[in-house]
Amino acid sequence: METTDNTTTEGRGHFIEQFITDDLAAGANDGKVVTRFPPEPNGYLHIGHAKAICIDFGMAAKFGGECHLRMDDTNPSKEDESYVRSIKEDVKWLGFDWGEGFFYASDLLDRMYEFAKGLIARGQAYVCDLSQDEWKKYRGIPTEPGTPSPYRDRTPEENLDLFERMCRGEFDEGSRCLRAKIDMASPNIHFRDPVIYRIKKEPHYRCGTKWPAYPTYDFAHPFEDASEGITHSLCTLEFEVHRPLYDWVIDRMDEQGLLVVRNGVTIRPKQREFARLSLDYTIMSKRKLLQLVQEGLVDGWDDPRMPTVSGLRRRGYPAEAIRDFCERIGVSKYKSATELALLESCVRDRLNKTALRRMAVLNPVKVVIDNYPEDAEEFFDAVENPEDPDAGTRKVPFSRELWIERDDFMEDPPKKFFRLSPGREVRLRYACLFLCTGVEKDADGNVSVIHGTWDPGSRGGNAPDGRKVKGTIHWVSARHAVPLDARLYDRLFTVPDPEADETRPFTDFLNPDSAKTVTALCEPSVKDLRPLETVQFERLAYFCADSRDSAPGRPVLNRVVTLKDSWQPK
Ligand code: ATP
Ligand code: MG
Repeated sequence: METTDNTTTEGRGHFIEQFITDDLAAGANDGKVVTRFPPEPNGYLHIGHAKAICIDFGMAAKFGGECHLRMDDTNPSKEDESYVRSIKEDVKWLGFDWGEGFFYASDLLDRMYEFAKGLIARGQAYVCDLSQDEWKKYRGIPTEPGTPSPYRDRTPEENLDLFERMCRGEFDEGSRCLRAKIDMASPNIHFRDPVIYRIKKEPHYRCGTKWPAYPTYDFAHPFEDASEGITHSLCTLEFEVHRPLYDWVIDRMDEQGLLVVRNGVTIRPKQREFARLSLDYTIMSKRKLLQLVQEGLVDGWDDPRMPTVSGLRRRGYPAEAIRDFCERIGVSKYKSATELALLESCVRDRLNKTALRRMAVLNPVKVVIDNYPEDAEEFFDAVENPEDPDAGTRKVPFSRELWIERDDFMEDPPKKFFRLSPGREVRLRYACLFLCTGVEKDADGNVSVIHGTWDPGSRGGNAPDGRKVKGTIHWVSARHAVPLDARLYDRLFTVPDPEADETRPFTDFLNPDSAKTVTALCEPSVKDLRPLETVQFERLAYFCADSRDSAPGRPVLNRVVTLKDSWQPK
């Protein structure tokens, strides 16, 4: 197994694996590991989430534990049931199973409300009437103590009354909030009486208008983890500075007797952070991905150029390749951009083993075999997949007129050109040797037909006299060719970091040539491709039948990835 960027010592795995191992060795959590993947259902999952999923589910599997799938849905705006459906589908497709462990954080809102009231009763939270601008100003900067809110010393009775009225919808958005009473002088700004509940009067996709106030992420997340009995809460680095607050919430839950107890052992979840995945030529912000969808710059969340799990699936990326990629990038605390080329190479590695080979011509020029009978046809055996001996062979039809790739012919070739040119012989893959004798040209002087002769003794592709033929090219019998739409997908952006230039919108860097459609002239069996089936067009690229636009007998072909890394910045 190849790993890069993995902080490993003594073969104990990456730092999170070591952390869990040590925790278990110390007898924590009754020896059980429970992790969770907690997406907010406000967008589709992307390749960055796939990394988190592989870590969360991977760690649970490694230690014989379980991983929950939780909808982190305590913010009413932009959340939606359709996102919940897509998230479940994507996690399943990636190959992970949450068993009985599916949860909605919004199911805990009643209990969070009671917990908050418990804090108020203990003098650990207060209702603050400062506006957002004001409390941020009072909070100050890390190097100097902040200024306490004038509302900090309200009595528990007054706070309770105000909080209950907040949660009955009596106050306007922004007019009040509930804050934890911690430490206005803490060097950690998140400890300076953070807001834990705010008024939000938008309807929630599951709770409707029941709640006019919602907990903040920093308050809700540890509560959700602890309530589900999570032992290890793994997340991305930006939450590292929030960890003391996470622990503070867990401590307060402990005081109120709200932690899960398993076999007499109290479960205290611990948060640990890893670097998020960022990929070059790709954006990963849900807000920006949504913008691409809403402005019609792509064909929906599952556009095959999108870095979403559903987009990659539709493009033809195998789930195994995505998991392999997540394995290869490893887990560390160092922020770095990963090359898209690495993901593409994982896709190639996988498809090379599994995809059947087919012949198709994308940029055709006609070949006429002058010494082949006009009405005759025959079938040659072609290897299904040289990497998989069990895949066997198929029959490919051959006749007097063929299509070949225009690039495989040069009238006046340089020395190292081993493909077709006048007076030269090439191998037509699986069929025979063919000698070019001349060309026809159209009015503009372009080659329109290539003429030549075949050697009937070379059936199958080998010279009867053992003469050497350097070039082998692919072909499709013109009479049998099936024309199909093929989308030559390419990178969605033309620059490695479309977000680097703050003076320009990221959409300025969209690649205008990322979805060119051409007609592919295919050998007949290609028309039987079922949605999401992938083949390798020999010498060209992998193509996958689109799951939305294909009709029976008429697949629409999506280019998954070329056979070699051939990307050239424009
Ligand atoms: P937002 O931009 O709305 O904050 P998000 O991408 O953080 O969205 P969440 O739904 O909160 O989305 O993410 C769910 C989990 O996936 C979180 O634990 C988060 O840390 C993790 N995650 C999100 N983006 C990445 C990424 N690029 N690499 C690794 N993990 C990620
Ligand atoms: Mg987030």
